[in-house]
Amino acid sequence: MRYWVILVALYMINWCVCVMKNLVLLLILVPLYSQAWVLPGLGDYCFEAVNDGVYIMHGPLQEPSKQNQGFMNNPGIVVTKNGVVLIDPGGTYQVGKQVLAEIRKITPKPVLSVFNSHIHGDHWLGNQAVREAYPQALIYAHPNMIAQASSGIGKDWINIMQRMTEGASKGTKVVAPDKAVQQGDEIVVDGQRFRIHSFDPAHTDTDVLVEHVDSKTLFMGDNSFNGRMGRFDASSNMHGSIKVLNYVKTLDIKTFIPGHGQSGKFDIAVKPFMDYLNSLQKIVKQGFEQELEDYEIKEVAAKQLQACKDWHGYDEQFGKHVFKMYLEIQASEL
Ligand SMILES: [Zn+2]
Repeated sequence: MRYWVILVALYMINWCVCVMKNLVLLLILVPLYSQAWVLPGLGDYCFEAVNDGVYIMHGPLQEPSKQNQGFMNNPGIVVTKNGVVLIDPGGTYQVGKQVLAEIRKITPKPVLSVFNSHIHGDHWLGNQAVREAYPQALIYAHPNMIAQASSGIGKDWINIMQRMTEGASKGTKVVAPDKAVQQGDEIVVDGQRFRIHSFDPAHTDTDVLVEHVDSKTLFMGDNSFNGRMGRFDASSNMHGSIKVLNYVKTLDIKTFIPGHGQSGKFDIAVKPFMDYLNSLQKIVKQGFEQELEDYEIKEVAAKQLQACKDWHGYDEQFGKHVFKMYLEIQASEL
């Protein structure tokens, strides 16, 4: 009799230990699985639903740095019946891997296709992680982007990221897009329609805006910023950017995804940047006609464009924007 009591007691102890072990395991694993990607000092990053089946991971607004590890863009996904379409997988191999890890918290489905919005490395160097995990996935982009990424410009971006992140992007390699798309193309992926809008040059001479027709979502690349000044480099055209923003206003779109900053309706995600560029164009043109110098125009513009003073990058970029607009107006008058 005593033997059976001991046996039952041992069984109960064993059962309790087993339950406790599983509970501890569960307590460890659940937070690990559900926890967002944390960049210390910047915040938590994960995909948020912005439309039916459409998710965005809104990145930090800063330039690439050691702190943000090269993550600063807005990777987007559309979940289809059998997979995922990924737009702009991030700025380094490491960021691309984090983006894929966050996608897996939304769905276990594989990445079927990728779109790259333009040549700036913070948007596409994560291609390497996608190609490694999903070798069959096709990567679509503007033909100029494919040519530039495959040439020295792709390598230049590797070096820029390496320098700005102080080595956090080490090991990142160029994986250039492989399928060219152009204005008016409609790409069907797993039954979902993606329409391409592209007018050269605007933010760069490599831009594609990707419309997910079924959800009325527009992935704008850097043709719009929200709360950020952004850069207009040598390949850009500010007048072209204004034209693109006027064009997207005419499209039947519910949700606009800027390259950086919060997504939303046109009035939230696009209008402030469009108003800024329109006002800047008007002020600089008036100054040019009055034969003011560019630094004098900058003073006038700064007084009139108070609304953008708090945007990220204002101190560094505002003067450059005025000068770029001045040069474009000067060139158009010649
Ligand atoms: Zn850009």
